[in-house]
Amino acid sequence: MKERASAARAEGKSVSFVPTMGFLHDGHASLMRAGRRRGDLLVVSIFVNPTQFGAGEDFGAYPRDLARDSAIALDNGVDVLFVPNAREMYPAGFQTWVNVEDISLPLCGASRPGHFRGVTTVVAKLFNIVRPTVAFFGEKDYQQLAVIRRMVADLDMDVEVAGLPTVREADGLAMSSRNAYLSPAERTSALCLSRSLAAATALYRSGEVSVRRLCEEVEGVILREPCAVIDYVEFRHGDTLEETEQADDRTVLALAVRIGKTRLIDNTMIGRDFTWKERC
Ligand code: AMP
Repeated sequence: MKERASAARAEGKSVSFVPTMGFLHDGHASLMRAGRRRGDLLVVSIFVNPTQFGAGEDFGAYPRDLARDSAIALDNGVDVLFVPNAREMYPAGFQTWVNVEDISLPLCGASRPGHFRGVTTVVAKLFNIVRPTVAFFGEKDYQQLAVIRRMVADLDMDVEVAGLPTVREADGLAMSSRNAYLSPAERTSALCLSRSLAAATALYRSGEVSVRRLCEEVEGVILREPCAVIDYVEFRHGDTLEETEQADDRTVLALAVRIGKTRLIDNTMIGRDFTWKERC
């Protein structure tokens, strides 16, 4: 991978990079298509990164299907599918970590201690291996995107970070490899996430800016589903992820909800049109 990337750079080619954990879906494909448009060489990595999973999380169960992923990558014009293994990425003696501080602490950082340290470390390593001109991430993982932007700025990394909108199923469910865990009944219940985002957006657009009131609205919609358990519902500043009591157009609404055993996340900028319905 390093040789391919160096050769491309030596020839003056730009390198687009899409890091993933595989079990690819249309959300990943939208990043690949953007990468195809922007770079001469398009690299996609598939690595289920053990260091971003906590004890008791779903590292072992995480869905994997390299044959299917390869076909999807090929269809989307990927030049290099980079699939390292854990021993190559974390050889014996490994002891260096990248830790982005404050912005990694709330939201998923609070529910999953150590998660973002694993993410930033592996993304920094992947950037050093692939040496991309531009790397593509989904807004679906909003905090991850914010943390990576922070890391790239703080460590003077020579890469452009591009964030792309969340791709949804026709009924509003944000695409996720973890949706494969859902039973048909849970799949229906999981719609409460996008429904709650739509409800909060509508309330904000009608003039409500109190985060307490907006939170109640979101929680009300989610808790109507008997199998839904809220991990967090938070309104934060869209760039810094600092807490806010009054929503404005720069506020992000982020949530994590357990549907049965499956933990799902979703988010929206509260001032943005929540338009998936119009698209289907
Ligand atoms: P993952 O394989 O889940 O680690 O995701 C790899 C990349 O794809 C990350 O940058 C995610 O934010 C992005 N991604 C995952 N799901 C979606 C989606 N539904 N829409 C857009 N991007 C997504």
